[in-house]
Amino acid sequence: MMTTKVETSLCLECGVDTMILGYVNRVSADRDNIDGYMCGMCISTWDLRDMWDSDGKQIYCPAKDDDEPEIDWDIHDEDEYEYAFCDEAEQIHIKQWHPEVDKDFPKAPQFRKYMETEQEWSQTDIWDIQEFVNGYNYEEIN
Ligand SMILES: [Zn+2]
Repeated sequence: MMTTKVETSLCLECGVDTMILGYVNRVSADRDNIDGYMCGMCISTWDLRDMWDSDGKQIYCPAKDDDEPEIDWDIHDEDEYEYAFCDEAEQIHIKQWHPEVDKDFPKAPQFRKYMETEQEWSQTDIWDIQEFVNGYNYEEIN
């Protein structure tokens, strides 16, 4: 029997239906057992990078600082700085964004739970989860 993947318009990170929210900057995202999207909000976390100068001093942390430092790129070069993904800022994003998603999409927490074990899904799981996402509902709460 041919193996299939779950196909969905959901954001694989947060569970928002990108047909309804976060459509503008979404990108397609393919995993082992599911083809879906990353919504614009979750993609924005990719830019959350801490930054250090050549002396090893942290000059920017998106979790603590509002704005990136102004650097004159005519004088300085990207190589003079060290960058690392900021987990702290990602956690802040998750704490703010996921409750927003869950308000509109009551099944989002369950979807994110499924995604934690995505690489281990069996073919039966895939069929079940396809059915689950097909029945995904959107509840606009005013
Ligand atoms: Zn998302």
